[in-house]
Amino acid sequence: MDFQLNVQPSSSPVKSTESVKVLVLGSGPAGLAAALYAARADLNPLVLSGIDLGGQAALTSTIENYPGFPEGVGGVELGDLFQKQAERFGARIELDSASTVDLSQRPFRVSTYSKDYLVNALIIATGASPNHLNVPGEKEMTGHGVSYCATCDGWFFKGKQVVVVGGGDSALEEGLFLTRFASSVTIVHRRDSFRAGAILQRRVKEDPKINYIFDSVVTKIAGEKVVEGIHLQNVKSLAETYLPTDGIFIFIGHTPNTTLFKGQLDMDENGYLRADGKMQTSVSGVYAAGEVADPVFRQVITSAGMGAAAAIQVTNFLGHN
Ligand code: NAP
Repeated sequence: MDFQLNVQPSSSPVKSTESVKVLVLGSGPAGLAAALYAARADLNPLVLSGIDLGGQAALTSTIENYPGFPEGVGGVELGDLFQKQAERFGARIELDSASTVDLSQRPFRVSTYSKDYLVNALIIATGASPNHLNVPGEKEMTGHGVSYCATCDGWFFKGKQVVVVGGGDSALEEGLFLTRFASSVTIVHRRDSFRAGAILQRRVKEDPKINYIFDSVVTKIAGEKVVEGIHLQNVKSLAETYLPTDGIFIFIGHTPNTTLFKGQLDMDENGYLRADGKMQTSVSGVYAAGEVADPVFRQVITSAGMGAAAAIQVTNFLGHN
């Protein structure tokens, strides 16, 4: 039987407009802590979660350094608890992302593809996204052996060999997590010592499943459709080698998610929002919290603290305006 779709050209949908006192962009620890504090100040905050509900913390297998959880807590579980606590006091969380922001008018206008928000005070907690190696094969095989999230993809590598790239806390922590699944984990780092904290370094060095290769960079990811190996270059001898592997997990830092605010808010040379000690950005009424404004600490606890501080400042700002 022939089946024809009768597709009519759709007229552009009419967007609805909503006024909100406090809009929070982002649903990581900073955004949800801000929502909790703003909700408890009776400001009925709305959170636009962005595409990654829970932010980067939700991609972390176990968070062991957030106080109150002596045995550690799963990243997703902690995000869920943050969300429930904020909602209990009246915060609303929408699974939506801002597509444009206009800070030149008051109230500020924040638009998603389906709605416009007129906003009295804005808290930006849009976080940061993982950096890419930008080598041949990386883009093509993302999701086919190239990953930026051990919690999401580790399970697919049961009994397989994987490579982790990076020498910071994330690389070592996620490398350790991957030993639950993989038969071996090889950490490739471009220098001759790790940047990560001492406890993680000790655990990695003591783990029989983990090997490491120092002074080396990945120059190419090889494979037909799925990852089969990586090409490495020693940065001192310039010698090139090939390492067969089933997967490569990349943890080489982050870039702040600030594209929406270019030309509207002051940023540093790496794109992090500049905020003063009171979380105030270069536009009054606009506050920044968490990794979007923090190239230094980037911890769940510091991000949550910045979120709380931003919401307290918003409360003062709205009280005076
Ligand atoms: P990071 O500390 O910036 O480390 C990034 C690592 O990637 C560095 O070792 C860096 O090498 C390497 N790298 C950067 N660009 C590279 C490239 N193009 N090719 C190869 N290697 C490259 O980032 P992170 O590990 O994601 O940590 C971010 C922040 O979160 C840190 O402040 C960290 O302390 C924190 N964090 C904490 C925990 C925890 O407390 N448990 C867990 C995760 C993250 P170099 O060392 O040579 O620069």
